[in-house]
Amino acid sequence: MKTFCGRANPTTGAMEWLEEDENYDYHQEIARSRYADMLHDKDRNVKYYQGIRAAVSRVKERGEKAIVLDIGTGTGLLSMMAASAGADFCYAIEVFKPMANAAVKIVEKNGFCDKIKVINKHSTEVTVGPDGDMQCRANILVTELFDTELIGEGALPTYEHAHKYLVQEGCEAVPHRATVYVQLVESKRMWSWNKLFPVHVEAEDGEKIIVSPSEMENCPGVPSVCDIQLNQMPSSDFTILSDVVTMFSVDFSKPVRSASTYYTVQLEPVKSGKAQIVLSWWDIDMDPSGMINCTMAPYWVKSTSAFQWRDHWMQCVYFLPNEEPVLQGEKVYLTACRDEYSVWYKLQKARGEEENKADVRVESPVCRCQAHLLWNRPRFGELNDQNRTRQYIESLMKVLKTDSVCLCISDGSLLPVLAHYLGAKQVHCFFFKFFKANHLEDKIKIIEARPELLTSSHLEDKKISVLVGEPFFTTSLLPWHNLYFWYARTAVTSHLTSNVTVLPQSASLHMMIVEFQDLWRIRSPCGICEGFDVQTMDDMIKNSLNFRESKEAEPHPLWEYPCKSLSDPREVLTFDFRKTVPQHCLRTEGSVSLSRKGKSHGAVLWMEYHLAAGISISTGLIQISNEKGNCEWNPHCKQAVYFFSSVIESETLSDLPSAVTYAINFNTKTGEIAMDFQL
Ligand code: SAH
Repeated sequence: MKTFCGRANPTTGAMEWLEEDENYDYHQEIARSRYADMLHDKDRNVKYYQGIRAAVSRVKERGEKAIVLDIGTGTGLLSMMAASAGADFCYAIEVFKPMANAAVKIVEKNGFCDKIKVINKHSTEVTVGPDGDMQCRANILVTELFDTELIGEGALPTYEHAHKYLVQEGCEAVPHRATVYVQLVESKRMWSWNKLFPVHVEAEDGEKIIVSPSEMENCPGVPSVCDIQLNQMPSSDFTILSDVVTMFSVDFSKPVRSASTYYTVQLEPVKSGKAQIVLSWWDIDMDPSGMINCTMAPYWVKSTSAFQWRDHWMQCVYFLPNEEPVLQGEKVYLTACRDEYSVWYKLQKARGEEENKADVRVESPVCRCQAHLLWNRPRFGELNDQNRTRQYIESLMKVLKTDSVCLCISDGSLLPVLAHYLGAKQVHCFFFKFFKANHLEDKIKIIEARPELLTSSHLEDKKISVLVGEPFFTTSLLPWHNLYFWYARTAVTSHLTSNVTVLPQSASLHMMIVEFQDLWRIRSPCGICEGFDVQTMDDMIKNSLNFRESKEAEPHPLWEYPCKSLSDPREVLTFDFRKTVPQHCLRTEGSVSLSRKGKSHGAVLWMEYHLAAGISISTGLIQISNEKGNCEWNPHCKQAVYFFSSVIESETLSDLPSAVTYAINFNTKTGEIAMDFQL
């Protein structure tokens, strides 16, 4: 059997359906899963174990048999903990077949076959009774169904169903309770991920300002959660406007309601400012007393002891629909609305009439301005980066002339507007809906065709003298996928003047060897987890990672994942946009010496764009900030990370290599880069 997977072709920018091996999806799921990260989360594991032991003891003290329901057993870890703690029987439910199979193997290997029954079903399909999946209802409910937003993976409907059909009344639950916390802040940096700030352009005929459409001002945006490693956000990037308050909590030992609802709290601002952002995180109490607590609180809230790095649970950034000035000491009301799977916020000055329950809107936010559908949060941040805009403006000023006919190839880009204001005679671009607000509909011609299908009538029989791109394309996953610009440039060659200026004139691929502070954990085997042998899972992940013969680099936003450089950054390939894409592959080999001590966890790769003489933009490394080699990365882009499994898997730091050799191949037919490294 074959499956079809949608993927953007980096040479055409178009989505294509590729036939993949039937196991492709499954291998992707396992390889990119968070199971390894969860097994490495010592704090989580220890606290679950403590909570499970305490729950089993409470049930035993009552003289009852301990019957456990573990929903979403994954590797079987929590059921094995329960069985070790003396539970009489565990029903371990897992909907994902490969995981259920792995759980069976792991349970067997650890000798718990007679105590744990793995059931490969969604919990809502599980039956209870003499002929059912479960003989009787359970009296201990154990789950780990939480995402960064707590409820995004469907914990609420799953609990609601379990209380109705699968567990006894008055059952013990581990965790016992979850609590969601919020803090109101002002942050230009985070606000720039959700609104377009005015762009000022100093043109020959005075200052021009690019404004966002008015629909955007009050647009609630999209409901998808913005989850980040908030601990990487320096305190200088936001101003705290309120104390941390409890927004809502869920008691998992009682019937749970998943229906949409809302919660309102009163806040007394500790500082005057502009309320823009609600920062949020949760904690779980593993027992009713609250003595066993696992928290996602960020660094400025949590005591620094016992700090646990994790990637499967982070913190949430919520954008208020519009910014609201608040005064120190003057109370405001913050409302959290939620449906079954997501949460959103609004702020009000007074608990007015509309606070009458019936009136409070609980429909999830829908983007009305289109911009939130066109631009994701990092892209908003990038477009709002004034330094970056200034570099494009300077470059455009260098190349544009009064008779320039300009074509822009980039998705959702402001470059056509900049080019128009900076004096280009004619500007063309591909599909984009932004110009109405700036009264530019008749100034900038929108071409309703793909670059490959461009005809001279689209260009009113003119030739393009200036071809520009950021380049940026929404379909790009890895940094070099934006080389689609080069392919598009090649496709429109016959429409270019003989002395055309291409901006950027070229791009280069850069590489550096790094040691990660924590990110290496997501690809590192676990072996023994709290005394249980989970190597079967390690092997499964490894097998899935090796599923494609050439291992692939993966995208990560490295500003969230600190690392230090072990080698100097090196330019490894260049791409000359003044010429067309060559027929042959571009290949390079070499060796970089490791100038700093550390574990070579992997290579980071990124693109730099050379806009015009002396002006370049890096989508990766910004600088190495100190002698220790700590790196500062472009905060709007994902970089490519190629993990060195041999280093990540070895326990010891014994033979540190002094150099890394590499071979990198850009296949011009596919637009993909294959790479190989030797330590
Ligand atoms: N309990 C494991 C794994 C947690 S990951 C541990 O703590 O290490 C959550 C798992 O729950 C995933 O494997 C997912 O496939 C499964 N899952 C989520 N909701 C489920 C449901 N309602 N029924 C069955 N499995 C579910």
